[in-house]
Amino acid sequence: MTRAALSLLVLLATAPLAGAQSVTTLHQGGPPEDRLDVVLVAEGYPAGAEGRFLEHARRVVEALRRKEPFDRYVGLMNVHAVFEASPGQGLEGATRFGTRFTGERMLTGDLAAIQQAALAAPDVDKVLVLVDERRHGGSAYGATAIFTTAFATTGGTLEEVAVHELGHLIGNLADEYTGDPGQLSSGEVATPERLAELFAANPNVTPWSSRDRLPWREWVDPHTRVPGHLFTQGVSAFEGAAYRRDDMFRPRRRCCMRDNQAAFCEPCRQALVLGLARHARPTTLEVDAAAGVLRVRTSLPPADLRVTPERRGDGWVVAVEDATPWVRGDRGPLGERLEVAGPDGLRVEVAAAPAAVPAASAATTGLVGHLGGDAP
Ligand SMILES: [Zn+2]
Repeated sequence: MTRAALSLLVLLATAPLAGAQSVTTLHQGGPPEDRLDVVLVAEGYPAGAEGRFLEHARRVVEALRRKEPFDRYVGLMNVHAVFEASPGQGLEGATRFGTRFTGERMLTGDLAAIQQAALAAPDVDKVLVLVDERRHGGSAYGATAIFTTAFATTGGTLEEVAVHELGHLIGNLADEYTGDPGQLSSGEVATPERLAELFAANPNVTPWSSRDRLPWREWVDPHTRVPGHLFTQGVSAFEGAAYRRDDMFRPRRRCCMRDNQAAFCEPCRQALVLGLARHARPTTLEVDAAAGVLRVRTSLPPADLRVTPERRGDGWVVAVEDATPWVRGDRGPLGERLEVAGPDGLRVEVAAAPAAVPAASAATTGLVGHLGGDAP
C-alpha cells in the first residue's frame, strides 16, 4: 500500500516562469517548507534539449525510489527540475555556469549562479547540477554537487552517481575510496589529530581505529575484530578512506560512498536518515471529535513509526519516533513531539498522508502542461 501511495506522488507539473527557465516538480512528498527539497539544474543542455534533461532528471528520481534508505524515506523529500537552455552542448563551448574540469574528474562552476538558478524551484535545500557531457566527472561543494551524465551512456550509472552525490549533500558523508587528491596542503603532516579535525563533520571516516573511538561504534558487534582484516564481516574499521590508503578508516568493506554500485553501509544510512529528518516534518495531527479519533498523518510508512499519545491539559501531546532499526545510539531528535487541542478519550489512528499536490502547478500562472514540444 505504501509503495503504491508513494508512486502516486510522481506528479508532473510544469509551470512556465519568467524568462526562459521552466520548473518541473518530479516528486512531491509534501509541502516544500516541511520537506527536503532537492533541485536538479541543467548545464550543457542546449535549446531543444529540455526533454532529454527531464528524462535524466526522472532517472535520478527513480534511483531514489530504489536505493536504501531513500526508498523508505522518499516521503521526506521533494524533487524539482529547473531547465534553462545552455549556449552550447556539454562543456565544449560557452556554458551556463562556467562549469569546467579542474582535474581529471573534478568539476567546478559558479556556485552562486547555480544557487540563483535553483531558486526558481518552490524551495531549495540541496542542488544537483546535471552536466550533459561525455567525459566523466563530479564534485560536491556544501549543499551543491556538479556531475556529468557521461555515466548515462555506460549502462545506468547516472543514477548511481546521483545517489552517491546525495550521500555527500544529505548525510555529510565523505568519500570512502582512496586515490584521489587529499585535502591537506602540500607539506602538511597528516597526524591523526589533523585528519580528525579535517574530517570531523563526516560521520563515516576517521583516523582512529580503536573500538571506543569510532564515530560509528554503536554499529560494531562486540564479537567483531577491530580494526577489520581481510576476512572481517560486518561493521568494523577498514583501512583506506577519504582518499587515503593507510591512515583513515571506513565502517564496512563496501559502501556506496566507496563504490557507487554498493548499498550504503549502516552508519552512512543512519547519517542519511538523520539528514533527511533535519529538513522534514512528515507528521501532522488531526482531531476528528465527531468520530472520537486523534489521527496521526504521516508521509513515512505508518508501520515504521512508534506513536505515544499523552493527555495534557485540554489537549494531547504525541511523541512520534522512528521505530526502524536504521538509527542507533543517542543521535538527537529524529522523532517529533506534536501538540493539538482536543477532548479526552480519543482513539489514536496512524494513517498515510494523502498524496500531495505540487503547489507550483497552479499557483504561478494557472498554466499547467508541458513546455514546448520536446517534453516526452
Ligand atoms: Zn559508508
